Amino acid sequence: MNTRMISIIIVGARGRMGTALIREVMDSDDLTLGACVDRSGGPGIGQDAGRLIGRSELGVLVTDELKPRRGSVVVDFSLPKATENNVRRCVEAGVPLIIGTTGLSADQERLLAECGEHIPIVYAANFSVGVTLLLQLAGVAAAALGPDWEAEIFELHHRHKRDAPSGTALRIGQAVAEASDRVFSDVAMLNRAGGNAVRTRDEIGVTSLRGGDSVGEHTLMFLGEGERIELAHRSGDRSIFARGALRAARWSLAQEPGLYDMFDVLGL
Ligand code: NAD
Repeated sequence: MNTRMISIIIVGARGRMGTALIREVMDSDDLTLGACVDRSGGPGIGQDAGRLIGRSELGVLVTDELKPRRGSVVVDFSLPKATENNVRRCVEAGVPLIIGTTGLSADQERLLAECGEHIPIVYAANFSVGVTLLLQLAGVAAAALGPDWEAEIFELHHRHKRDAPSGTALRIGQAVAEASDRVFSDVAMLNRAGGNAVRTRDEIGVTSLRGGDSVGEHTLMFLGEGERIELAHRSGDRSIFARGALRAARWSLAQEPGLYDMFDVLGL
């Protein structure tokens, strides 16, 4: 084995993202699968990770306990409650953590900020390079267009997604708000409904659709008088998030403790 191989520990290994991550790790030249963790009592505990994705045995069994080893990187795409426990374990072990889990509460996000004082943490609602660029473009457009252009966000995801709106849609809203001197939580209008739904000048609308197998679509519209700009991103396949998260994992090993996002990883 290449002595410079980076050991990756995947949390949420049996999930849609977990299996995409196992595939990407197996297909890479510089990464090795250190461990796979999933929910205690869930199906698949004790199963070989290679078999889990329909390939030959790897000799790494899915366990229900995260034991981060120094020198490895933990990549967590699971559930907010699990992520909350895992971040503490990574701090105890001094191991960098990449978090893709969405739907974290404000308290859980505060915990990440505290733990970021001890280990490098990369937390992103969307690890795709394309979406990271979309966030950048959203801010540039909002600042250039000014208050006369009304921003609306539309997102579509598969029927199994638990949180709504998507973490990415909220990040797009934040990017627009920050670039136009607004506080997103003050102006966010989520799934507009009700009797008096007349638009206020400052609001930023977010609409969620769920169904089918869409990996994720986000469209940001700036609606002006007689014209409209749309910035859209469509995810064709989960491997884009897995590759982005593993890029962040490689990057994290050279970083000081801190709470980072994909902008930092891409140097934007
Ligand atoms: P999924 O339901 O297919 O997989 C989640 C996995 O986590 C399951 O195997 C589940 O058993 C496991 N899990 C639950 N509790 C656990 C625990 N306590 N310890 C360990 N594992 C546990 O979901 P998914 O589609 O793979 O998405 C997982 C998360 O990643 C969601 O929050 C989703 O929104 C997010 N996501 C983020 C990005 C991104 O780029 N940041 C991209 C896609 C999905």
